[in-house]
Amino acid sequence: MKCAVCGRDSKYSICGRCLARREKIISYPEVVEIILCPRCGRYKFSGSWNEISFEEALDKAIESSFFVHPELNVKDFELSGDGHFYRFKIKGVLREDYVEEEGFFKVRVKREGCQKCSREAGGYYEAIIQLRAKNRKILDEEVDRVVKIVEEEINASGSEKSFLTKIVERREGVDFYIGDSKLAKKIAKRVVREFGAEFKESAKIAGRKDGVDFYRMTYLVRLPEHFPGDVVIAKGRIAVAKINKAYDLMTGNTVPLEGAKVVVRKEDLKSGYVINKDDSALEIFSEDRVYVAEKPEYEVNVGEEVFLAVIDEKAYAIPKWMVE
Ligand SMILES: [Zn+2]
Ligand SMILES: [Zn+2]
Repeated sequence: MKCAVCGRDSKYSICGRCLARREKIISYPEVVEIILCPRCGRYKFSGSWNEISFEEALDKAIESSFFVHPELNVKDFELSGDGHFYRFKIKGVLREDYVEEEGFFKVRVKREGCQKCSREAGGYYEAIIQLRAKNRKILDEEVDRVVKIVEEEINASGSEKSFLTKIVERREGVDFYIGDSKLAKKIAKRVVREFGAEFKESAKIAGRKDGVDFYRMTYLVRLPEHFPGDVVIAKGRIAVAKINKAYDLMTGNTVPLEGAKVVVRKEDLKSGYVINKDDSALEIFSEDRVYVAEKPEYEVNVGEEVFLAVIDEKAYAIPKWMVE
């Protein structure tokens, strides 16, 4: 067969070269628009906001606004530009003929606040995490750790409402205002697990939106009075607190921590050595004195270094593994 236009041998009635002259092998807009949120630097394409570079955003915009002839087998697409003006060269095979075309276009960056930033700037929040501590002040280290957890969870969340609106320090604790209530609950639960804290949630109607009641959640996280290593009374037993459990000083078994009361702080424990033992008692040497403590059910050896707590004038030996 010969090309009807140029007369060259071709498998087609019109060869690739002639077709490229008649029909555009590529059509594209004069101006390619890219939408950028000036606050968070994300780019919008096909309805969602993405953390990508300008170059990636430009590629996406080209993909969606350039139209390539369906028969063109693209072999190469070169692009050069300065952020405003761009030149491209497309090379490919059309009906077995090598064809290429060059063109120019402008890039316009349109600035538009994304929904997340608009909400954040508007002070939007769905939940408050109230960080409190039982019968004591919250330590700075504890607040720092919770701030870290909040940051980690926000960064890991893909939600358009995952942001910290504000942190408010109050006499009784610290309040974290969070954009997304589901995320806030996840954060609160993680703090609860990590600190062995108590958790309580409540909802309050904050208004109506599109005919539906809009709720604000409050997640109360109450840190326990004790720190790991403190001696507590839990369920009537004298025990060493750990996270979410305690060791009974007499049996070595674990006891639940609910309702535990601190009797001796870890830093107030004395240290000493077991110097003697019999069937019912241990003798412990500590700070130039010998204390007699009831012998626990688990093994404690003569010569062993132990902690010592004196509660109601009664001495208790505490093996190191329980405290550390
Ligand atoms: Zn031809
Ligand atoms: Zn934004």
